[in-house]
Amino acid sequence: MLKFNALMIKSVDYADNDKILTLFSLEQGVISAKIRGVKKAGAKLKFAAEPFCFAEYMLTEGRLKSVANASLIDSFYPLREDLFRYYAAGTVAEFIRKFCPENVVHAALFLKTVRVLKDFAYTAVPAYAALLHYLAAATKEVGYSLRFGGCACCGATPSRPFFDFTEGNVCCESCRKEGSAEMSRGTYELFQALSETEELTEEAFSSYNIDRVYYEKGLRLIGRYLRTVAEPLDSLTQLLGLYGAADK
Ligand SMILES: [Zn+2]
Repeated sequence: MLKFNALMIKSVDYADNDKILTLFSLEQGVISAKIRGVKKAGAKLKFAAEPFCFAEYMLTEGRLKSVANASLIDSFYPLREDLFRYYAAGTVAEFIRKFCPENVVHAALFLKTVRVLKDFAYTAVPAYAALLHYLAAATKEVGYSLRFGGCACCGATPSRPFFDFTEGNVCCESCRKEGSAEMSRGTYELFQALSETEELTEEAFSSYNIDRVYYEKGLRLIGRYLRTVAEPLDSLTQLLGLYGAADK
């Protein structure tokens, strides 16, 4: 038997009453495991197959692991009561599924992921802010760094920053490369502030005093960057659509 501290990030139906879970674990990164009987009413381990369930999973060894038992650590229940927070959490789960290969340990990213789910569920930090803070750091953990220091070519502080979607960095107006796009100062400064903030507390968020529109621009920039260098995050597109609809 193997013990994993893990988040449930995807489930797929399997046979009549079983599911195949994708778990993001502290100990071994992303792993798959079968869980039996969870579609039956009153199944004891039903909670362990719920989205974003954080539990200690006891798995059998073997080619396809199987969940023998689980004890709940946190269900992040309030996520289910707010559409924006739910889609933000869905974006996090999709990010892990797409950017963390199976059996590659990502302990720091795991801890950041638990923390952002806590932020979504239990704090007053808006979902767009917690998500942007998470993605700005999480992209780095999987090898797609975003760098918002000085110009990547000449080192000068750019008065008009241009973001390079293939390199993930910023150049000034005279060094900018083809295909780069001008960023608003507000978004540029927001990314700099976020990179200096280890934990986005309610106090840290309030102290920025930056309008939501810049967070949305930041999320759109990360979405376009990931689409350019790797693959798109569909849940992020849906979340941005929700914010857009809410503004009308
Ligand atoms: Zn330059």
